[in-house]
Amino acid sequence: MICERCKQRFGMASVKLGLCRECREDSDGLLLLHRQVTDCKRCPLHKTATNKVFGRGYWAAPILFIGEAPGKNEDAVGEPFVGAAGKMLDALITYADLPFKSFYITNVLRCRPPGNRVPLPEEISACLPFLERTIEYIKPKILVPLGFTAAKRIFELYKCDITEKMMGEIRGKIHYYIDRFRILPVYHPAAILYNRTLMDVAKEDFKLLNALYRGVK
Ligand code: URA
Repeated sequence: MICERCKQRFGMASVKLGLCRECREDSDGLLLLHRQVTDCKRCPLHKTATNKVFGRGYWAAPILFIGEAPGKNEDAVGEPFVGAAGKMLDALITYADLPFKSFYITNVLRCRPPGNRVPLPEEISACLPFLERTIEYIKPKILVPLGFTAAKRIFELYKCDITEKMMGEIRGKIHYYIDRFRILPVYHPAAILYNRTLMDVAKEDFKLLNALYRGVK
């Protein structure tokens, strides 16, 4: 039998959802992580959140988009990028011709900071292990931090030494983390909504993402 995710041959003994043992462990790990996020009280944000926001998209996707934190709409619905910024992200994904099974979307934080304020360092530290484990189970080939907060955390997490300090300098450049994945930071969709002149470079970056995706799939 062929595993639906990794396309390797495997024995019938480990059949569950058409996945080999390793891929099944990742799928189960992600489900368990989802429950742990739902029960999480690691920082005070759980007290004000209406819903925890885990992620949306294909669980074994090669591309992982990483935003900052849920906003008002995401908090109400329990899914990332469902408001105006989400529409912008969806438009760029459509522009780049990325199929549904090519991406998963999550955030650095799982709970909305009140009033959409910038996440505090202690909230990020409390939530970051969830992002790390999400990456471990999904095993994406391309990480796409959306905006500077996510890019900074991803570079710190994977010890990528970058000298650039601004989004305008790091966006659209491919960084390699050993041979595990590529990191392609792009502008946050909300930044493009505020400043429409960023749209042209955002489109360039998503074209590059399409080329990267065609190369790794
Ligand atoms: N902005 C983010 O960074 N994440 C969301 O989920 C929505 C808006």
